[in-house]
Amino acid sequence: MSVTDIATRRDAETDAETFDSLNPANGEVVGTYPVHGAEDVAAAVARAREATAFWSSLSFAERAERLRAWAGVLTRRLAQLCEVVHAEVGKPHGDAQLEAALAIDHIAWAARNASKVLGPRRVSPGLLMANHATTVEYRPLGVVGVIGPWNYPVFTPMGSIAYALAAGNTVVFKPSEHSPGVGAWLVDTFSQVVPEAPVLQLITGFGPTGEALCRSGVDKIAFTGSAKTGTHVMRACADTLTPVIIEGGGKDALLVDADADIAAAADAAVWGGMSNAGQTCIGVERVYVHERVYDAFVSEVTARARQVRAGADPGAKIGPITMPSQLGVIRRHIEDALARGGRALVGGLDAVGERFVQPTVLVDVPEDSIAVTEETFGPTLTIAKVRDMDEAVERTNATAYGLGATVFSKSRGMELARRIRSGMASVNSVISFAAVPSLPFGGTGQSGFGRIHGPDGLKEFTSAKAIARQR
Ligand code: NAD
Repeated sequence: MSVTDIATRRDAETDAETFDSLNPANGEVVGTYPVHGAEDVAAAVARAREATAFWSSLSFAERAERLRAWAGVLTRRLAQLCEVVHAEVGKPHGDAQLEAALAIDHIAWAARNASKVLGPRRVSPGLLMANHATTVEYRPLGVVGVIGPWNYPVFTPMGSIAYALAAGNTVVFKPSEHSPGVGAWLVDTFSQVVPEAPVLQLITGFGPTGEALCRSGVDKIAFTGSAKTGTHVMRACADTLTPVIIEGGGKDALLVDADADIAAAADAAVWGGMSNAGQTCIGVERVYVHERVYDAFVSEVTARARQVRAGADPGAKIGPITMPSQLGVIRRHIEDALARGGRALVGGLDAVGERFVQPTVLVDVPEDSIAVTEETFGPTLTIAKVRDMDEAVERTNATAYGLGATVFSKSRGMELARRIRSGMASVNSVISFAAVPSLPFGGTGQSGFGRIHGPDGLKEFTSAKAIARQR
């Protein structure tokens, strides 16, 4: 993904650098934000470090109460939050509501479960240490830096922020330069329920601001974004030995077995591939279909994809492409697929407009085409015919990514799901993993490492401390 779409300017009097956040549906300015430099970042981290004294001294129950209060504010002011999301990243209101509801659910889950998962726990001392009481405690790390993307600007960073806070850390949050207003709204509402200290702070800017956070001496970085930026994040964190979670991109596949429910699989392919205009890390981008049901499946998918329309009006199911530079990527993927023998059954090159991309379904695309190998991040699907499900698994796994996958099979769904190299897999539905707070979320390979959400996600923001006391 690119971060270079947005111009910056310097105030002649103060010399402060700022940038505008733009509405991707019409180019209007939504807000103006500072480009924070390394000194600003260091100051925010210093304030966050001081604030750990207050926040980590609270009990799990006291922190949970504040987090629940925050969830309450988000719930009461949901319409306002959705308006900010809609204006800044172009998401239709219904999608913005879904995203915010999921985020609220995660805050509530983290608040409810932190003490259960992280509270001190007695373990067996074993024979040699039988005269000791042995305990494991999950201590907060201190200050956590959260670097977020724009595609789910509430939900995605919340998967780190809520869990890091519930575990007793303070947080410095850098939202994407495409969604600073959403970040500001979240931090502002949190400070209303925790006015005593800057427990959650905002820094805004581009890659260099994120890099300064990585180099600032925070105790952990939770990064969500593209695999390429993930490599820069790791490099910057290496110098200070700062641990990282990398939630990278994906190229998720949907596999359709000969005995699958074809209508349900087609629904899943179109919803998984087109919702949020395809700008979803766990969105379906590739489909592998058993040859016995290939024709039936393709005809169901094309019929459904034709019903989906991108636009700014309330009747449109999908919104604009948030980053203008991404339009070029999507165009290049479709172009390459068509130039190499692929066919567009729905959409195609004409589907790529100035701000919107209409659904595109591609078939007969060679496996080494960039539409199959690289993350497209647009409302496109490639559908390929396979001899059997072994071939489907093999082709699914022939990617550098490994985030999620979906399998439709009545007889062997679980077996196929286990054979796919990915952090997550769903069987006979395309339920989003984002919707299940108790399940770990994350990938393998270029999709990154570390897990957010659930008990694993809470533990990511702690350090396990072993204490043995002689009786
Ligand atoms: P991006 O990598 O361009 O940017 C992500 C964040 O990193 C932004 O805040 C950006 O300012 C910051 N950044 C850029 N350069 C940096 C640097 N050198 N050091 C530190 N920070 C830097 O990604 P994006 O375009 O905002 O988001 C889309 C990508 O995110 C897609 O690849 C998508 O698949 C991925 N994503 C992954 C998940 C997941 O959970 N795995 C969730 C949502 C999005």
